[in-house]
Amino acid sequence: MAEFDVDLFVIGGGSGGVRAARIAANYGAKVMVAEEYRMGGTCVIRGCVPKKLFVIGSHVHQEIEDAAGFGWSIGQVSFDWATLVANKDKEIARLEGAYTSNVEKSGARIVKTRAVLEDAHTVRLATGEKVTAKYILIATGGAPNHGPAVPGIEHVISSNEAFHLKELPKRIVIQGGGYIALEFAGIFAGFGSDVTVVYRGDNILRGFDEDVRKHVRAEMEKRGITIITGCTVAKIDKHGRDFTTHLSSGSSIASDQVMFAIGRHPNVRGLGLEAAGVAINPANGGIQVDGWSKTSVDNIYAVGDVTHRTNLTPVAIREGHAFADTVFGKRPVQVDHATIPTAVFSQPEVGTVGLTEEEARAQYSHVDIYKTDFRPIKATMSGRDTRVLMKLVVDGSSDRVLGCHIVGDAAAEITQAVAIAVKMKATKADFDATVALHPTASEELVTMR
Ligand code: FAD
Ligand code: NDP
Repeated sequence: MAEFDVDLFVIGGGSGGVRAARIAANYGAKVMVAEEYRMGGTCVIRGCVPKKLFVIGSHVHQEIEDAAGFGWSIGQVSFDWATLVANKDKEIARLEGAYTSNVEKSGARIVKTRAVLEDAHTVRLATGEKVTAKYILIATGGAPNHGPAVPGIEHVISSNEAFHLKELPKRIVIQGGGYIALEFAGIFAGFGSDVTVVYRGDNILRGFDEDVRKHVRAEMEKRGITIITGCTVAKIDKHGRDFTTHLSSGSSIASDQVMFAIGRHPNVRGLGLEAAGVAINPANGGIQVDGWSKTSVDNIYAVGDVTHRTNLTPVAIREGHAFADTVFGKRPVQVDHATIPTAVFSQPEVGTVGLTEEEARAQYSHVDIYKTDFRPIKATMSGRDTRVLMKLVVDGSSDRVLGCHIVGDAAAEITQAVAIAVKMKATKADFDATVALHPTASEELVTMR
């Protein structure tokens, strides 16, 4: 009789857990995956995918406005939020089914229940059943922060609820200045809501290149989004279906919804980590892991948002895959967390890879900046008041491109390709030696002198 019920028990059927389960099963391991909500996890069910569908939908408004300059006359247009939500839900259900069947096809078994650790080799299901495992992978992801307990906090929604609102809010206040706040600000504004972003610092997108921060803010304001900086939400009053949001500055804003997007925390609570001896990283509250995603317990690993390293889907997937290769494929792989491209699907979009100018200046003695800020060709006919920003950060000594930052249409798509060059340590001379592809916005990246 086998020493354990399974070779691998995965807690969490999201991006990282699903990849690890499938790859381990492909290597011949006996795998069980527990998912307490819906297969696919945050990215598929209430993150990247539904968000991108909403972004695409909200962009149509701008396309319609821009069409007039190209000769189109479009009659009465209308938008139906309920149709959008229903069609999005249909697509998410399809993807959930695909994730489920892909895991099952690999030979892994899914249990639709919460699972917690009983000890280093035992998992307890909500049903009371206990399963022993040679290895355990914790891939429980994260959840929205609720924020400080200001009066009226119970009225506040997070991104989780924003995907299921019954009606499009006519007016919405969004607290936060990061990815989710700005993406939803663009979504709601695109669909016609009156949007106010409230951010505690002096400018949105802390940690991004300073030029990017200024450019995005100016462009979002041009699109009618109000951005209030240097204050926080102090209190929310509800009157019937309306809210009044009181700010720390003393002013107040009337709205139909109030949303907080103020970061996410790793799902570690109630997981039985202490019972199994799994340590938390005191610096970020995530599960502490080494370069192999191994926790403080030899046979327990953790990947994805629960480790609070780089909270992005492709990173969780890489970490899950590397874990399975290392432990079950006998092919040791460590994930390189440097130079990870990322995009904020705000409107306009931000794409970034590598160092910001500020980071480069702190690390290198001679930094060269190549920067252009131009009117995109489409705007010449649409008449839209908008500008694109492209910026390369270069090490003046080696000529290596250390970072690339773009704000404008297709910034994310362009950045994915540029990331290959930056990861390969391409020099500015390599960029310059590449013939431009005309007429595009991205040709600026090889013509900036
Ligand atoms: P998750 O995908 O969160 O999966 C964890 C799973 O574990 C969940 O399904 C949960 O129900 C389950 N679970 C938790 N505890 C238990 C338990 N005890 N027992 C059983 N099951 C449990 N990233 C990008 O790269 N690009 C984007 O555009 C992007 N957009 C985003 C938009 C939003 C609104 C949000 C919230 C996130 C977005 N992200 C994006 C981040 C991305 O979703 C996460 O980085 C990614 O999903 C992390 O994967 P994971 O496997 O670590 O966790
Ligand atoms: P972010 O960390 O991006 O932004 C959080 C924002 O909330 C920051 O502006 C932060 O301010 C502010 N904030 C934090 N605490 C408070 C507080 N107590 N009161 C007021 N403001 C506060 O988190 P998000 O929630 O936007 O997203 C979570 C993560 O999910 C992202 O970091 C990213 O990893 C991932 N994600 C990725 C996406 C993508 O790839 N496109 C899209 C969506 C999410 P300050 O800057 O001052 O700390």
